[in-house]
Amino acid sequence: MNRLQIRIDRQAWSEMIGHCLEAMPREACGLLFGCLSATGIPAALNYVPIANAAANPLYSFELHPQELVQALYAAGGKQELVGIVHSHPRTAPYPSNQDLATLWHTTPSHWIVSLRDPALPEVKAFAFRKRQQEDFRLEAISYEIVLE
Ligand SMILES: [Zn+2]
Repeated sequence: MNRLQIRIDRQAWSEMIGHCLEAMPREACGLLFGCLSATGIPAALNYVPIANAAANPLYSFELHPQELVQALYAAGGKQELVGIVHSHPRTAPYPSNQDLATLWHTTPSHWIVSLRDPALPEVKAFAFRKRQQEDFRLEAISYEIVLE
């Protein structure tokens, strides 16, 4: 389980956390774009903030549909969607039941930034894995912050 499973660029990392802090006390959400190498380790290179369109953004998130489409379109061909990010302003960096119901199963990584202690953001990455005969499960994956 401790095998490295994704890399994230240091600048993208800072922007991701910065955006989550800015949105406090609301949940923030955004996308990570980069390369999904078939053989190597996927790399998240760019963070794109997306407005939170949830009816109650204090306790949930919903990627603003129009901004989402624009971001996917802008990345088109050059970079791939490697991750979806959202923050938990008051709780631990583990997916809620609502997260489990709404997160996109096909996106390679899901990042949760916990700001329980805003001075010390806690970030966890997860991926859906399908085990034989079972439903999808969300498992923690290991990451490394790199200078690209
Ligand atoms: Zn959540």
